Amino acid sequence: MAEVLLKDITKIYDGGVKAVDKANIEIMDREFVVLVGPSGCGKSTTLRMIAGLEDISDGELLIDGKRMNDEAPKDRDIAMVFQNYALYPHMSVYDNMAFGLRIRKFPKAEIDARVKEAAQILDIEELLERKPKALSGGQRQRVAVGRAIVRKPKVFLFDEPLSNLDAKLRVQMRAEISSLHTRLQATMVYVTHDQVEAMTMGDKIVVMKSGLIQQIGTPLKLYNDPINRFVAGFMGTPPMNIAPADVTEEGGKIVVKEEGFTVVMPKNREETLRPYVGKKVLLGVRSEDLTFTKKPEASNLKATVTVVEPLGNETHLYLDTKDNQFIARALPINEFNVGDEVNFTPDVDMMQFFDIETERSLFYKA
Ligand code: ADP
Repeated sequence: MAEVLLKDITKIYDGGVKAVDKANIEIMDREFVVLVGPSGCGKSTTLRMIAGLEDISDGELLIDGKRMNDEAPKDRDIAMVFQNYALYPHMSVYDNMAFGLRIRKFPKAEIDARVKEAAQILDIEELLERKPKALSGGQRQRVAVGRAIVRKPKVFLFDEPLSNLDAKLRVQMRAEISSLHTRLQATMVYVTHDQVEAMTMGDKIVVMKSGLIQQIGTPLKLYNDPINRFVAGFMGTPPMNIAPADVTEEGGKIVVKEEGFTVVMPKNREETLRPYVGKKVLLGVRSEDLTFTKKPEASNLKATVTVVEPLGNETHLYLDTKDNQFIARALPINEFNVGDEVNFTPDVDMMQFFDIETERSLFYKA
């Protein structure tokens, strides 16, 4: 069992920087939880408070129900994997992995068995005698993970472990860490600024901004029902198109529009928008929820193509309505050229609407 509970956890650094403000996170046994957000949002500080590497200014940290605020890192039964691997350069791979167990006075045979088991799991058995400088980035990363595995900790903490690897290796290691999680059945907390890593790896994602948790949920909940403009724009590539638009009432229907984009609200979504008639809202539409059409419907995006990006399986089009820019995806069966006037039908049921001041989603369901 390894359950981690953060209750109103706050971190104020010397000098008064509030890096984390009343964070409440419930990390269940065997869960893979990802903390994600832009640089400086407080995700590493949160992880380091769980590890015991930073003091907790306020709030309570519980691991399996036991208060951990004042326990030393070594007494928390956790293991952390860092971005820079933090391997000892003068020690072999074997000794790097054995080191933590030796200082904890584990019997030699037990250390040997654990190192060999971890090496086998990570497929680095051939490398045990090498020094870190004779390893590739990916291999060093595996050793750093191995050093955590041999400890058999209650909780694994990862701090941006893949950011030093090239793009291809990152994708591979991402899948390896996911399958390691399945294999070890361990509780893992993983910090990254990369929303794709968060989406692909997390059972649960915690999105942070400026020290504040914005939303906690499964990858698809965050993608399909973001609580606010920030989460909507942060999760997903290309990012969700978000633009200001006027809410009007035309012939009894609620219509949201800007220069080239008209959205006739379906009956079941009218009531939420009615109080905004005569005001502006932010409309949000993902590029995959725009479908190229030669026959414009009542809800329509009419725009000029400014950039064409053929990716092979699909083409990204940058569209200009004079008021705003949108990115749409189109099938590669259609040819597009810069300057084309095009029409796209939005999937109105999938669209998001945000209050222009609070930036909260009008349709968010807690
Ligand atoms: P992230 O991991 O999301 O990039 P951090 O948790 O490292 O963010 O930092 C959160 C905020 O706390 C930032 O504003 C950062 O400048 C500040 N900060 C981090 N470490 C310290 C420190 N040792 N002293 C003072 N401020 C710090």
